[in-house]
Amino acid sequence: MLEKVLIANRGEIALRILRACKELGIKTVAVHSTVDRNLKHVLLADETICIGPAPSPQSYLNIPALIAAAEVTNAQAIHPGYGFLAERADFAQQVEESGLIFIGPHPESIRLMGDKVSAIEAMKKAGVPCVPGSDGAVGDDAATNKAIAKRIGYPIIVKAAGGGGGRGMRVVRSEEELVSSIEMTKAEAKAAFGNDMVYMEKFLENPRHIEIQVLADGQGNAIHLGERDCSMQRRHQKVVEEAPAPGITPELRAFIGGRCVDACKVMNYRGAGTFEFLFENGEFFFIEMNTRIQVEHPVTEMISGVDLIKEQLRIASGLPMTLRQEDIVIRGHAVECRINAEDPKTFMPSPGKITRFHPPGGNGIRWDSHIYADYSVPPNYDSMVGKLITYGETRDIAIARMRNALDELLVEGIKTNIPLHKDIMRDEGFCKGGTNIHYLEKKLGIK
Ligand code: ADP
Repeated sequence: MLEKVLIANRGEIALRILRACKELGIKTVAVHSTVDRNLKHVLLADETICIGPAPSPQSYLNIPALIAAAEVTNAQAIHPGYGFLAERADFAQQVEESGLIFIGPHPESIRLMGDKVSAIEAMKKAGVPCVPGSDGAVGDDAATNKAIAKRIGYPIIVKAAGGGGGRGMRVVRSEEELVSSIEMTKAEAKAAFGNDMVYMEKFLENPRHIEIQVLADGQGNAIHLGERDCSMQRRHQKVVEEAPAPGITPELRAFIGGRCVDACKVMNYRGAGTFEFLFENGEFFFIEMNTRIQVEHPVTEMISGVDLIKEQLRIASGLPMTLRQEDIVIRGHAVECRINAEDPKTFMPSPGKITRFHPPGGNGIRWDSHIYADYSVPPNYDSMVGKLITYGETRDIAIARMRNALDELLVEGIKTNIPLHKDIMRDEGFCKGGTNIHYLEKKLGIK
């Protein structure tokens, strides 16, 4: 087992990783920017190092500073968490070239999945169902592109190969808009991602977002841990997640999970990962793979009993995975609400000092957060300040517990989206289950 791990992240995920390390007897190094000296995990880590000023390019994205911090503290491995450098193949490669262990997949896997065109091609080869599309990047010939779009059938969506965070996409409903839409998406993609490669996909009108969690050890063993439903989104950002997904039968789960496991074996994938799908009319369509731990991993932990971060640490230690597919038994239901420091109506970020704070408690309640009374939320980073997760033997019980927990959770001094979550947990459509990705925006009057 690893002896010392550097946590190259901040906030709740840094604390989550620290907790897992402590459980396994692994020493921890917390790195932080100048405004993050009082983060909870920094106060609890064995060693701490300031790696730069508040702006993330100079601290949490500063690769030389991170590698130097690992070297001076004799950390063996770096856990990137999510966001920041978690999906940067060049970072993973530099970590490995420095003689350190990257707690994640091989750089080649990150590179392959980071380009959506190559990712889709690899998935198709491995037998993962994909959205019907252009089968590769599109060129500049208008007639050819029109023919491809016609074959796919309108509406289509033009997407950037290097896109991320819901950017670099454009829906096209008729042939007249096609050529200009491709040109605009290319120009935007070039400016935003430095890569103007775009491709076309059938645009699915009312899908759900359902994703499969996998674990693989890079030694021939791979398993899936069932699915999560993350359809409750605003601007392609997940707001509420749950597991299992309402209405997904054990047969469907075994089918799609099996395809993902096969893909992991073909790629010789290592670590935790998530295959994201759109789900419409009973069919799954692959859209992308996240080669890292995800924000919503706790809902899977609650229903499977597997600690995903501890599994990541074991795999990075070079230990073969002892979990087998038949060991994974899905029990009960879990829901997660992302608690953001933002105005619940305008969604404007609301950083500042937390004056009063009380966490919720009771049976089936999990609160993953770094905040405390007197803590100041800096304006420099993502606005998520915590994740409230509830578990119940049934979905109804998990939701009832979430309503209670949201009533108990008290965060004063800053604005939060707790009122929005209270509203969602009482929403008729949500309570019924199985709403699509447009549901929340329609409810908010955005669409
Ligand atoms: P990103 O990497 O930017 O998150 P994704 O490929 O994961 O991009 O797509 C993000 C979101 O865009 C999806 O969750 C879905 O809401 C929408 N989307 C992407 N592709 C399609 C499609 N073919 N049809 C309908 N919606 C899509």
